[in-house]
Amino acid sequence: MKIAILSRNRKLYSTQRLVEAAEERGHEVRIVDTLLCYMNITSHHPSVFYKGEALDGYDAIIPRIGASITFYGTAVVRQFEMMGVYSINESVAISRSRDKLRAYQLLARKGIGMPVTGFAHSTKYTNDLINLAGGAPLVIKMLEGTQGIGVVLAETDKAAESVIEAFRGLDAHILVQEFIKEAGAKDIRCLVIGNKVVAAMMRTGKEGEFRSNLHRGGTSQPIKITPEERSTAIRAAKIMGLNVAGVDILRSNHGPVVMEVNSSPGLEGVEKATQKDVAGMIIEFIEKNAKQWKTSTRGKG
Ligand code: ADP
Repeated sequence: MKIAILSRNRKLYSTQRLVEAAEERGHEVRIVDTLLCYMNITSHHPSVFYKGEALDGYDAIIPRIGASITFYGTAVVRQFEMMGVYSINESVAISRSRDKLRAYQLLARKGIGMPVTGFAHSTKYTNDLINLAGGAPLVIKMLEGTQGIGVVLAETDKAAESVIEAFRGLDAHILVQEFIKEAGAKDIRCLVIGNKVVAAMMRTGKEGEFRSNLHRGGTSQPIKITPEERSTAIRAAKIMGLNVAGVDILRSNHGPVVMEVNSSPGLEGVEKATQKDVAGMIIEFIEKNAKQWKTSTRGKG
């Protein structure tokens, strides 16, 4: 097969592993810098161009779209869909999961467990918002944040109020969330491919840190998840419409709660912690599922 990986950085571990796994299986693979793609928006013969040539004849794409380029990146993926090229994660699914409010609303609609969460545009009723989320301690998150940046723990209602007002004063969009203290600065990253959790790791925040992100100095180890956690992760990915997803779960007193569904999950942490060939499993999924015009939206969404 002819596969394109949309990635801004060919040196990234995940990108390299996908190339390696595809080549090992005899596929032709090319890394395409998403932001260097350009397109002709036409109904007759939509194409994606790259460095002066049309990217024709591809059987599948693997979008690895960073949060900062979601807008342009999903447009490129959508263009491939309009050409009938199979994308392992479709543009609508990526957009759904990137918009945290939209993602939470979709998950809530389907009864997926999540931390009690509130959000508001105005700071006029901040006290009420704090009460809605159950009062301090609360976690306040900037919607645009990644890798734990802009995630703050407010121990008192007063602190929560100040943080909310400060963020809103900067025009940042935020959500206010019940603090799952019993998770003990640990979270579970489930790597979902299709209808399976193919690897799972537990991440633990460094001493004195409630955020377990590996970028914040957290450590990881393989973990055996419960059947409930497994089905929660699979359902969450399915609700987003993602074939490949990293689903982050906290162990709360009221069962597993989903914190985030990531459409371009990093492979380094999870492959190293679990010794599993996740990149290989992604390529195998493409081998089994990639068909022309198989994308459910065909660039509609
Ligand atoms: P990011 O997307 O920036 O990584 P997250 O929402 O995943 O932000 O939060 C970063 C980390 O903070 C999580 O991995 C988790 O360890 C911790 N965390 C986030 N929300 C909560 C919460 N409601 N209760 C307890 N810990 C939380």
